[in-house]
Amino acid sequence: MGVRSGITRAARGKIDDVNPKRILVVGAGHVGLYAALRLSKKLSSREAEVIVVDPQPHMTYQPFLPEAAAGNISPRHSVVPLRRELRKCRVVAGAVTRIDHDRKVAVVQPIVGPTREIAYDHVVVAPGSVSRTLPIPGLHEQGIGFKTIGEAIFLRNHVLDRLDVAAATTDPEVRRRSLTFTFVGGGYAGIEALAEMEDMARDALRYYPELEPEDMRWVLVEATNRVLPEVDRDMGAYTVQQLLKRNMDIRLDTRLESCVDGVVKLSDGDSFRSDTIVWTAGVKPSPMLDATDFPRDERRRVTCLPTLQVVDGDRVIEGAWSAGDCAAVPDLTKEPGNFCSPSAQHAVRQAARMADNIALVIRGREPVDYKHKHAGSVASLGLHKGVAQVYGVKMTGWPAWFMHRTYHMSRIPSFNRKVRVVVDWSLAFFLKREVVALGQLHDPREEFVEASQPVGAPRV
Ligand SMILES: Cc1cc2nc3c(=O)[nH]c(=O)nc-3n(C[C@H](O)[C@H](O)[C@H](O)COP(=O)(O)OP(=O)(O)OC[C@H]3O[C@@H](n4cnc5c(N)ncnc54)[C@H](O)[C@@H]3O)c2cc1C
Repeated sequence: MGVRSGITRAARGKIDDVNPKRILVVGAGHVGLYAALRLSKKLSSREAEVIVVDPQPHMTYQPFLPEAAAGNISPRHSVVPLRRELRKCRVVAGAVTRIDHDRKVAVVQPIVGPTREIAYDHVVVAPGSVSRTLPIPGLHEQGIGFKTIGEAIFLRNHVLDRLDVAAATTDPEVRRRSLTFTFVGGGYAGIEALAEMEDMARDALRYYPELEPEDMRWVLVEATNRVLPEVDRDMGAYTVQQLLKRNMDIRLDTRLESCVDGVVKLSDGDSFRSDTIVWTAGVKPSPMLDATDFPRDERRRVTCLPTLQVVDGDRVIEGAWSAGDCAAVPDLTKEPGNFCSPSAQHAVRQAARMADNIALVIRGREPVDYKHKHAGSVASLGLHKGVAQVYGVKMTGWPAWFMHRTYHMSRIPSFNRKVRVVVDWSLAFFLKREVVALGQLHDPREEFVEASQPVGAPRV
């Protein structure tokens, strides 16, 4: 495959001086993709070779997941194919399972075949985060997260499928629980997912004469007394008002206590059945980091300097860099002790600074600090509805929604994706969005297995 896999740093010995430096990028999300792209543009092939490892063949532009789930954007267009964008890098389809930075070696589990070691000179640690869950009875069995394109597609099909179930059944209890959708966590991921899915379902109901919008129950469970902590309180309050106007059931200061067999029990004493429980209550750094020798803080993030170099106390770990959701990067625009929030806004800017710093260090120069004042947030609350607070300017309704779209369209990597997303939006404007469930995607072999049963074989 051309990658010098299996060659340890010691074995390479003296050839390092004449060989290009090897930069290993772990994870090709917001940080990894942008860093690899920039590194491959800034450094010549004589200076560095860039290897990118990710189990997925694409970067997922997560801010578009709610719109992809709602059918405003094709799911294919909210991801960026790695091999197309990273032509100057080597892309390895697999997961890094261990990093021994003392030896500067990473263990990679390719999507097929045995594990292999890849030696490196610099490593970019960017595996991002996973859903942060709690030991709530039933959550593991009943819940679904909202961080991957697979989860977004599943949720879309599931919600539309529940409308079909509700329309077909004569049992009022089955109908009630099919049409009860519960979201836990009121950050931007949870609010956007809830608002976009409700908007889509309400839109779909025009084709279901058996169902009325009032039959649906959309519940938001949030443990604190506000939503959207990324914007000011008044904007959070506006968002709650808008959701209440749409007849949503918003439970602030309330926790999910149990959801065994789909019976939702809340800390306010209420209990109801729900076929859909979406967990969006925060993230935690990738558990892969447990198999590394990098220093971590109390929230299990890799500790970094503002230069994005990994640091242990006051000792800089040479050749190790990190950013994004898995990293504790000091926020120099705030009082000491504050760290950058886990957001795409910081991730892509940190990636650019980090790539520039790696190039500086390779060329024997000093790295520069990352400093960016969080500009604010934009959130979509469904078609033509939104809330935004950018550089202190507050917007609601259509202007905020328009800003959400234009901002993210400008941010999604590659001209190709930008065009495709704009075409999706334009088509939906004229032709209305598709509201059909493709639930078969989740078990595509079922029909063939049934049809290819040997004659006389017992039916399974
Ligand atoms: C629904 C949703 C909406 C959001 N909306 C916004 C928004 O509007 N604005 C905003 O600023 N932020 C938003 N965010 C947050 C933002 O998307 C994240 O902060 C950002 O993606 C973090 O970038 P990252 O590179 O650290 O991680 P990611 O982008 O998650 O990338 C991590 C990559 O690492 C790969 N990986 C994981 N483990 C391994 C391994 N062991 N080996 C190799 N590769 C691995 C993964 O496959 C993935 O490709 C949203 C998030 C979600 C879920």
